[in-house]
Amino acid sequence: MRLRHIKGSEENIGASPYVIQDPRTHRGQWHKLFGNEHPIEIEVGMGKGKFIMELAQNHPEINYVGIERYSSVLLRGLQKREELELSNIWFLCVDAKELAEVFGEEEISKIYLNFSDPWPKERHAKRRLTSPEFMAVYDKVLAKDGKVEFKTDNRGLFEYSLESIPAAGWQIEEKTFDLHNSPMAEGNVMTEYETKFVAKGNAICKLIAKRV
Ligand code: SAM
Repeated sequence: MRLRHIKGSEENIGASPYVIQDPRTHRGQWHKLFGNEHPIEIEVGMGKGKFIMELAQNHPEINYVGIERYSSVLLRGLQKREELELSNIWFLCVDAKELAEVFGEEEISKIYLNFSDPWPKERHAKRRLTSPEFMAVYDKVLAKDGKVEFKTDNRGLFEYSLESIPAAGWQIEEKTFDLHNSPMAEGNVMTEYETKFVAKGNAICKLIAKRV
């Protein structure tokens, strides 16, 4: 994602009632923060958050946490959030590598990765959100029967993920190289990037991973 620093974005995020400012203090206590025992699902790298806010609107019986590491990107999501009446979503401005410091063991029911940065150079492979390093982080916070759902139009990243995820000790439960023409499209919620790529005619790949 091309980044333009927005002046004052850290201050705005720091003052936002929709962003948890000290997420580590809620580790293992997120249900208390939501005030119910509903399952908690997270999107890692939510960008402007269209996808996760739509899920939160459609599923009041599920709690959501949107995670984005750049304050200037998250800020854009907050503008949309202000227009919505929702009590089942929080945002965090943290790097995904810190997830196990923020969430307790098995505290999360599902992890969404949507159009994650491809990091095509081999020397940057560890930064890919489906690398074995990141899968090990998800393993710490995801419930035993929890799932990771990953969508991308980047064929190289998808093919890499079809190898890196099993190499990390997970199994691919379902996959498609053309989501919008497959049974997996049922109930699909489009992300911001997905809308752009579909308009360009790109096929969307999707996989669902779970523990072996
Ligand atoms: N998920 C959105 C969508 O599909 O429209 C945004 C996709 S955008 C290409 C990827 C986003 O992931 C960027 O906003 C980037 O800052 C964020 N991101 C990448 N690596 C991250 C990490 N390690 N932790 C948190 N966010 C990350």
